[in-house]
Amino acid sequence: YSLKTQRRANGAEPLARFGEAKKVLGDIYAEINTYVDELNGFYEDPFHSANIDLSTEANPSAVVKVSDEQRKGLLDLSASIRIIRETFQRDHMKVVFFGRTSNGKSTTINAMLHDKVLPQGMGHTTCCFLQVEGCSEAEGYLQRDDIEEKLPLSELRSYGNALGDDDRALPSAGGYNRTLRVFHPRTSSDGHVNRLLQNDVVIVDSPGVDVSPEFDSWIDAHCLDADVFVLVSNSESTLTNAEKQFFHRVSQRLSKPNIFVLNNRWDASASDGQDTANMVRKQHEQRLKEFLVDELHVCTEREVKERIYFVSSREMLEARLKELGKQERAFQQEYYKERRVEFEKFERVFEQCISRSAIHTKLEAHNRRAIEIVNKMRENCDAVQLAMGDQKRDRLLAMEESASTFTRCRENLAGSNKLVACRRNVCVRKCMSRFRPTFLR
Ligand code: GDP
Repeated sequence: YSLKTQRRANGAEPLARFGEAKKVLGDIYAEINTYVDELNGFYEDPFHSANIDLSTEANPSAVVKVSDEQRKGLLDLSASIRIIRETFQRDHMKVVFFGRTSNGKSTTINAMLHDKVLPQGMGHTTCCFLQVEGCSEAEGYLQRDDIEEKLPLSELRSYGNALGDDDRALPSAGGYNRTLRVFHPRTSSDGHVNRLLQNDVVIVDSPGVDVSPEFDSWIDAHCLDADVFVLVSNSESTLTNAEKQFFHRVSQRLSKPNIFVLNNRWDASASDGQDTANMVRKQHEQRLKEFLVDELHVCTEREVKERIYFVSSREMLEARLKELGKQERAFQQEYYKERRVEFEKFERVFEQCISRSAIHTKLEAHNRRAIEIVNKMRENCDAVQLAMGDQKRDRLLAMEESASTFTRCRENLAGSNKLVACRRNVCVRKCMSRFRPTFLR
């Protein structure tokens, strides 16, 4: 491990940890695959293959044969390894944004992406789920969930509406449940690297919770693989029943979901004066604490402090666009700096949380599967070795009978040594010792 990798693994760059973990797991699977190939080469060697019988009538047990069961078992393991390797290359970290229409979900996502990726102020016209992901192309594009063709980004608003209309026309589709994928360059034309997209974060913007009560189908279609949920609420009002209801359903369906609450539009509190703002803030904090800790049981009293933030996504987005030279002026109210510090703290905690959650829920499962595969390979080897032992004993008895039997016996013994070498390679510790202590703490 390089020092840089260790620094990352220690939390210096939480988002990069996911990529590192994925790479280490990829190496582990590649290594297991070489053991499978090695063992397969031994099993498929004509001398040991069940298809080619080199035994004679006089010496029926002269050839060590690997049974069909063991050979098939090994081929099945090889197929599983191939599928898992393909699957985890597609694994990503996923965050889903919820809240009422116009609370600032799109603005918050744009602020986190340092770019105006999603149209803001669409109001009730955001009728489908918008999934933002990184692409390596220089130009971004859209993809509907029913057509493979790449569509121009400029059509985002109209395609978003069209998908919503399709869905409403089809009650069986279950409401506003369609997805429009928005592919955005990981590195923009001016060389700015988008950290979230660069590190395999996928961001989902939902239609407002006030628009559709189809929460269960939403959760099934978009949330089961989510690592983090962000509720964007309006700090000028209290949480609505729809917002609460949605998270009640989420916490019933998913075990201990990671939920952050952003009290957005906190810039509005600037005109109320500090005392009033502090009082309003305390009230919100108390209610949200009761909601997350006592009602949903998704975090403890200690953890909840890191889950609630008072921010202004509009100020944050405009400040970042100005810093990148994309606009001249930025909207800022009194106490902007405090809100900016709070937004940046949210981003840090969010990054640690999403990376840890994705490693545990997604990659840990692949690590467990790797250990299972290695154990099955050892069982497979053991069964063959046991059978070889029996056959070897028989042959030693027959050894004196003829010179040709002697030659076969020698070859069998060599085969047996080869198998022992294969078996030694299939070592569970090799898999566990690298992935578990580094990434699963
Ligand atoms: P969404 O429907 O939840 O995605 O909300 P949008 O992000 O589209 O925001 C709706 C409107 O609220 C837009 O005009 C935004 O500029 C505005 N807005 C979003 N966040 C803030 C904020 O923090 N402060 C203020 N003053 N306006 C905001």
